[in-house]
Amino acid sequence: MDLHFLGAATTVTGSQFLLTTDRARVLIDCGMFQGSPNEVIRNRVPLAYEPDELDAILLTHAHLDHCGLIPLVVRAGFKGPIHATAGTAELARLVLLDSGKLQEEFAKRGRRWEERNPEKAAREEQEDLAALDAAIAEAEAGRVASDAIGDQLGDAVEAAIDEALAEVGAPPAAAIPGRGRRAGDAPAEHGSGPTGYDLMAVPSLYVPSHRSLEETGPVPKRRDDVDAGRAHAAATPEIALREQPPILEADLDEPLYTSRDAELAARRFQPIEYDHEREVAPGVFATFLDAGHILGSAIIRLRVQEGGTERTLVFSGDLGRCDTPILRDPTVLTKADYVVVESTYGGREHEPQKEAIQILADTVRLVAENDGVLLVPSFAIGRTQEIVWQLDRLIDTGAIPGDPGLIADQRLVRRSVRIRSE
Ligand SMILES: [Zn+2]
Repeated sequence: MDLHFLGAATTVTGSQFLLTTDRARVLIDCGMFQGSPNEVIRNRVPLAYEPDELDAILLTHAHLDHCGLIPLVVRAGFKGPIHATAGTAELARLVLLDSGKLQEEFAKRGRRWEERNPEKAAREEQEDLAALDAAIAEAEAGRVASDAIGDQLGDAVEAAIDEALAEVGAPPAAAIPGRGRRAGDAPAEHGSGPTGYDLMAVPSLYVPSHRSLEETGPVPKRRDDVDAGRAHAAATPEIALREQPPILEADLDEPLYTSRDAELAARRFQPIEYDHEREVAPGVFATFLDAGHILGSAIIRLRVQEGGTERTLVFSGDLGRCDTPILRDPTVLTKADYVVVESTYGGREHEPQKEAIQILADTVRLVAENDGVLLVPSFAIGRTQEIVWQLDRLIDTGAIPGDPGLIADQRLVRRSVRIRSE
């Protein structure tokens, strides 16, 4: 079993994981890189896999940094189902259509600007292409380093486990029959052993990696093969043509995808109920559990069978806070062999909910007293609904003036509110 981290590592957007077993290839999330131009350009890096070889895509929730590249992957040949909760499927359709439309608008605006500023545009184009080259090189470096890092992680994980075992007075993992094995060793029996937990062979763990461009062409294995291949190719022009590595023709002026692409991608959603297990690929069983983040958001638990063993992997997706209005608390899970957890705010402590509401009330009152306008930048889906809900409560309790005159300035906000109320 291999797990590739294809985004949201060393950065906070572009969540995407590729799980492969000897029988299955499953993508968990397929997010867009967002933020600075150097981040956004990473959306143009060639895909790290053949989309038509994927069995399924599993989507934790509808935020763009988790679902935003789905239309691109579908357009590139993915033909399987996209499993997500009904709430996520509906919201993601909106989000992706909106994103496709924006991509088209940006491209149109970009073209108009280029016509007016040809010299500056040519310079920027060169800068963008250099940034793309850098992003591809970074992805390639990740791929090359992955094996070594996988081994180091294996050692570090085993050392940490031994330390924890020593603390409770247990023998080191390697001393427990069937435990403490390494990737490539014979598989351990699942669930066996004296301590009641299971150490699995550490799967290969990869830093963000993308397949190199060269690698997409045929890769001869030995020197003889190279010479034989050349002689054969020279004799057949069509084969010679086919065997050339692909040339990356990056047209950065083109939209990443269109609203039509998004519409076609949205048809691949297959809604799944919370807490119901579904076999999403041969030997891969998925259960979606409430993550309490936005409507439809889910933690995905996978039972993965390979070579007579079974492992449980948990992908947290974005997790909500407990005791928030509108949404349920995130599900508590207690058992897993591996947990892949989002940690964007992992190093930060939120102020208690009560204090946050107090700050909101004080700010609204202050602005109202001065006849001012309060601009609240907020995620269109999730955060905005929560703020509206809190403002409503504050009006009800008289903590802020009765009619603050609320304007939600985005079409997406209004549509997502409608889905939420249905
Ligand atoms: Zn999110």
